[in-house]
Amino acid sequence: MYTHYQVLIIGGGTAGIMLSAKLLREQKNLRVAIIEPSVNHWYQPAWTLVGAGTYNYPDTRRDEASVIPKGATWVQDKATEILPDLNTVKTEKSGDYTYDFLVVAPGVKYDLDGIEGLRDALQQPNVCSNYIDPRKTWGVLLNFKGGNAVFTQPSTPIKCGGAPQKIMYLSDDYFRKTGVRDKSNILFATPGTTIFGVKEFLGTLQEVVKRKDIIVRLGYNPVKIDSQRNEIHFKLTQPGQQPFTPDDKLREHLEGTDTIVIPYDMLHLPPPHIAPDVVRNSVLAVQEGPMKGWLDVDIHTLRHKRFDNIYGLGDVAALPTGKTGAAIRKQAPVVAAHLLAQLNHNKQPELKYEGYSSCPFITGYGKMVLAEFKYDNVRDSDPLISKFVDTTKEQYSMWLLKKYGLPWMYWNLMLKGIM
Ligand SMILES: Cc1cc2nc3c(=O)[nH]c(=O)nc-3n(C[C@H](O)[C@H](O)[C@H](O)COP(=O)(O)OP(=O)(O)OC[C@H]3O[C@@H](n4cnc5c(N)ncnc54)[C@H](O)[C@@H]3O)c2cc1C
Repeated sequence: MYTHYQVLIIGGGTAGIMLSAKLLREQKNLRVAIIEPSVNHWYQPAWTLVGAGTYNYPDTRRDEASVIPKGATWVQDKATEILPDLNTVKTEKSGDYTYDFLVVAPGVKYDLDGIEGLRDALQQPNVCSNYIDPRKTWGVLLNFKGGNAVFTQPSTPIKCGGAPQKIMYLSDDYFRKTGVRDKSNILFATPGTTIFGVKEFLGTLQEVVKRKDIIVRLGYNPVKIDSQRNEIHFKLTQPGQQPFTPDDKLREHLEGTDTIVIPYDMLHLPPPHIAPDVVRNSVLAVQEGPMKGWLDVDIHTLRHKRFDNIYGLGDVAALPTGKTGAAIRKQAPVVAAHLLAQLNHNKQPELKYEGYSSCPFITGYGKMVLAEFKYDNVRDSDPLISKFVDTTKEQYSMWLLKKYGLPWMYWNLMLKGIM
């Protein structure tokens, strides 16, 4: 096997595969390698549906070997260190690889110690996370007999920011079907200041929350889970401005001046997300500020801010937009165009990434709001889809797109670099 490549890619997930497929479509003879340790490739967007018992988990998996594009070399290994001054990547087992261009796309790492007690809580039968094991979530829903169903999210960036709400809306629907909804309170507690930042979609989501009688708490940052007592502790993000009136139904109480303790009968949350060590501990990471640790790329060209021959895309990139597969669909053509122009000594293209991302808000079985947006929370709905449906409203057609259309497009078009 060669140890030098024109393009070396770290990560064979959504971003690494979409990009390598695009590059090889544009330039067949390119010498590309993908460093990826896992034998599995996952379609994570369907995990929300798996968690609600309406999608088959094994259908979200393919062999990694089957998605590596023809012409690319798969280095089945883990990148452990990036030495940008030497154009070198060190790996766990197979030594060093050198490159002309490096693309960094290892996704995220889950920080199970980022919330006190989370690691233990996830071992309990009533605590689940679609991010870790959506099959367990479905088991938790099946076994839920009423009480407090608490849905929350950490204060770090997370992939698919809408996913913690989607599973809550589906749970509500499921509990109504099985008759336990009358005996339960559903709480959505988020460290954020709103349930969604794009105003055109926010109104619809607020109506959904109202219709479903969901209790919403903003500025609630989960800091501790006590799985012996089945209680979750939230620190108020703006204690002075958040007067606390306990809700008797929830059996919640204030501890000290800024901590709210709420008992749960079931709990769902994504774990805190951080950048994988290979990026976080390297000079390639943002060194200070709220994006600290994530990959420091230009937000429009996705080229590294300090190293000219390094690009990055996908969840690892420090970009002020939603971390989604949908975003990567728009990022990959930009990286491919800029990287190839540079490699072939052509003029840099005008093409820029404008921050497109999308959140398919499932609001129940058979209902979805397709929220598409770009930087600064500006709505960016697909003009073709918008011709036929009002995407700011719940639609059955968008549910069909989510459940059947998008998975097909992912495996057959996106991963092949066709769209
Ligand atoms: C529950 C859930 C629901 C979601 N819903 C949606 C949705 O509805 N719509 C949507 O568009 N997106 C959704 N997403 C987000 C989407 O799945 C991710 O944004 C996307 O997969 C990110 O792609 P990536 O390539 O950056 O990371 P990943 O696809 O996670 O791939 C990263 C790859 O890098 C590899 N890797 C890690 N470290 C190293 C290393 N050191 N060396 C080499 N390789 C390494 C990993 O093994 C992995 O294969 C959802 C995600 C979850 C979890």
